[in-house]
Amino acid sequence: MSGLTASMPRLDAEVLIIGSGAGGATTAALLAEAGIDVLIVEEGPWVDQGSVTPFSLEQMDQQYRAGGVTVALGLPSIAYTEGRCAGGGTEVNSGLYFRPPVDVIERWSAQHRIRDLDPDALSVIAAEIEQALTVSTVPGRTTPASEILRDGAAALGWQHNEIPRWMAYPPGGDAVTGKRQSMTRTFLPRAFAAGARMIVDCRVDRLHMAGGTGRSAAVTFADGSTGVITFRDVIVCGGAIQSPALLQRSGIHGYIGRTLAVHPTVKLSARFRDEVNVPDDVPVHQVKEFAPDLSFGGSASHPGLVALALTDHWKAFSKSVVQWRQIAIYYAAITSEGRGWVRAIPGLRDPLVTYRLSHRDRQLLRSGLARLTLLMLEADAEEVYPSFRGAPIVRNRADIASMQQAFAVSKASVMTVHLCSSVPMGELPGRSGADSFGRVHGTSNVFVNDASLLPTAPGVNPQATVMAIAIRNARHFISSRSTTDTRSTTDTRNIKGHHER
Ligand SMILES: Cc1cc2nc3c(=O)[nH]c(=O)nc-3n(C[C@H](O)[C@H](O)[C@H](O)COP(=O)(O)OP(=O)(O)OC[C@H]3O[C@@H](n4cnc5c(N)ncnc54)[C@H](O)[C@@H]3O)c2cc1C
Repeated sequence: MSGLTASMPRLDAEVLIIGSGAGGATTAALLAEAGIDVLIVEEGPWVDQGSVTPFSLEQMDQQYRAGGVTVALGLPSIAYTEGRCAGGGTEVNSGLYFRPPVDVIERWSAQHRIRDLDPDALSVIAAEIEQALTVSTVPGRTTPASEILRDGAAALGWQHNEIPRWMAYPPGGDAVTGKRQSMTRTFLPRAFAAGARMIVDCRVDRLHMAGGTGRSAAVTFADGSTGVITFRDVIVCGGAIQSPALLQRSGIHGYIGRTLAVHPTVKLSARFRDEVNVPDDVPVHQVKEFAPDLSFGGSASHPGLVALALTDHWKAFSKSVVQWRQIAIYYAAITSEGRGWVRAIPGLRDPLVTYRLSHRDRQLLRSGLARLTLLMLEADAEEVYPSFRGAPIVRNRADIASMQQAFAVSKASVMTVHLCSSVPMGELPGRSGADSFGRVHGTSNVFVNDASLLPTAPGVNPQATVMAIAIRNARHFISSRSTTDTRSTTDTRNIKGHHER
């Protein structure tokens, strides 16, 4: 890597891709392999997989936006997290894989008038993704914290599954020996092999527009120096919060940032007789008895996160923190009817994000926490610590009733890691931010190709759906444009943070 001085060259690319997560990396690989000159710009750093302990506070510091402290304001406010590094959310996430749900794709296609959105075609793409990311179940035993979900659900007769992950397991490996097949291990190396260039530690502040045509991007590097990148087309893949914010900062408004959709979760910590905590992994079982409205799963349970979860009623719960090895954290996630806004505020770096839960969402969160508590007791939890202010310790079924009485969503620690739908695609006039293939309405060469395009939250872990739609749209982009090789002559050795791969 080499730094740049104040006289930074004006960079140029046939296609500029902003963001290198699930949407950006797949788009970059496909376009580069089609002979298109691609430059990826990523705000966060390149962090090699394995150099930071997964699910640790150190990882949050290095690879999450704002160290993981970001919030959608509301009643209650919802804490959300975004990856901010090469590979985006794919570097830090749990790797739990769901094919794009056929019923959801059919509904999107019909209700949002999305042209040629075919569930069978997406299933074919999903099979490609499964191969590229070596999606598989754990070869040996799953972790004790995961088996608690399985056993509690089995005791109640509730439907449960082990969810496959994008992990590569060594021969004879088990749950904790898998290597996450994130974008820095898969689609980004593919993009580099096909000639794509990448700048890390570089944020795109805004696009310069002339009428409906994007001309260039104003960027700021981590050291505060600035630059300009010109392009023929730009594909914004900053994720469901940053993509609409960037479009708004660029003066593109339309139906942008008004329909953020998330999977809100409430959580609890449960203490067992034996050691169950695996600090650097998450459970692979999920309970789908009440899906798609409500699902249960396991969260990262690093000791720091256990301590944080117990602060919801520290006076009552704190004595248990020393027993963190016997404690694991679980969540109840809902498919929300509520919607949120993302608004870029002039003069501020970060957008204002708000989210409003519906009455039905609140009821589901309440019943979800009660049912998850029941499941923990069935799995022989000695004590359950629900995550809401002033919550009682639950030790038996009778305590669940008093817990439910004390519960109010406004007191709960609601959070989410699944953010979508802020630039929904489709042809519905006045109800979609981008067309059926991601071109932002009212523009000729500005595209979005990330989780923002999903018309609603899909009701399952979303990354595979984000990637499948990104690949579909990338192929449409390639086929509808000339693929003549007009590679830029920019000297990439001078690009700050450029990654030679
Ligand atoms: C903790 C966590 C756990 C998760 N677990 C799962 C799971 O198990 N299974 C699953 O399916 N999904 C999971 N997800 C969700 C999944 O990671 C996301 O759905 C997916 O990564 C979204 O892809 P994306 O391309 O929209 O955005 P991202 O992957 O978030 O990538 C966006 C990238 O763009 C960059 N960027 C943003 N703005 C700019 C800018 N202005 N200039 C330059 N760069 C910019 C960001 O730094 C980021 O790297 C999880 C997410 C998190 C955070």
